[in-house]
Amino acid sequence: MKTLLRRDVVPHALLFCGIEGVGKAQAALLLAMALNCDAPASSAAGEVPCGVCRTCRRLQAGQHPDLLTIAPEGALIRVAQVRQLCASLALKPYAARTRVVIITDARAMNPEAANALLKVLEEPPDRTLLILLATQMTDLLPTIASRCQQLRFGPLSRRCLQTLLTERHGVAPEAAGIAAAMSGGSLTRALRFSQADWLARRKWVIAAIGLDRPEMLSSRPLDVLLAVAEKLAGHKAWVPEALDLIVAWLRDLLIFRYAPARLINQDQAALIGRACGRMTDEALLQRIQAVGSARRQIEANLNARLVLERLMLQLAGRLT
Ligand SMILES: [Zn+2]
Repeated sequence: MKTLLRRDVVPHALLFCGIEGVGKAQAALLLAMALNCDAPASSAAGEVPCGVCRTCRRLQAGQHPDLLTIAPEGALIRVAQVRQLCASLALKPYAARTRVVIITDARAMNPEAANALLKVLEEPPDRTLLILLATQMTDLLPTIASRCQQLRFGPLSRRCLQTLLTERHGVAPEAAGIAAAMSGGSLTRALRFSQADWLARRKWVIAAIGLDRPEMLSSRPLDVLLAVAEKLAGHKAWVPEALDLIVAWLRDLLIFRYAPARLINQDQAALIGRACGRMTDEALLQRIQAVGSARRQIEANLNARLVLERLMLQLAGRLT
């Protein structure tokens, strides 16, 4: 991004790609600030916005008339939103040197909306930069992606996340370590996992299924397992994270013998050490796969409760 600014030729459209929570939106905002900051360019050659001038502050607060944001309404970005954007772009920028449009989840554009946006990209308005945010380039129509310069945002390292969580978000170091390890490099996900009740929820999920004592799995009462499925299905928002927690636990049981220092659930090392010899690697891998296919089925909108019931039986070794 610095190279872009240094070269002094910012393209008309940028595409920021990366998983959620790796700083794409923050980078887009910083770029808008860097392009418009009122402070003399001498400060780091205009690469770093001052953050305190009137323009920087208004941009940061989302109150600058030349910063336009489009986000999905419900699940979709609709053509009416893009048409409204076109109408605004037909006018000159109010005050900014470079007007900035941020499209936060570009994949959510329906085909009509995407085609309307394509027209903007084909005839880019004056002094305007479009920034599209997406997980990967293939989320977009090739005709759109090819008109944008792409910047990739990699996952954040465990250490970087842990520092962000403890220093900026006041998370206790131990919880931060687990959340960072669980997050797959995404700050958004790490924050979700560092909410206080997640550690409690992990304890509940693992113990309710019986994965803390694998030697007792086969005698776990059926009604208890089905009750776990029912409770999770009743809290749909928990399901993706609950599945992550289960996979992380199974993974830890799998790797403990080979690399105990790389546990995700570091705080449970003693329990994992006791439990890990009770299941074969093959049994653990089978269960990890079972969680993966349950996740895909739920994402494909199959009945969550039925999928989870089946999964619980698989985890307990009653079904393969
Ligand atoms: Zn500034």
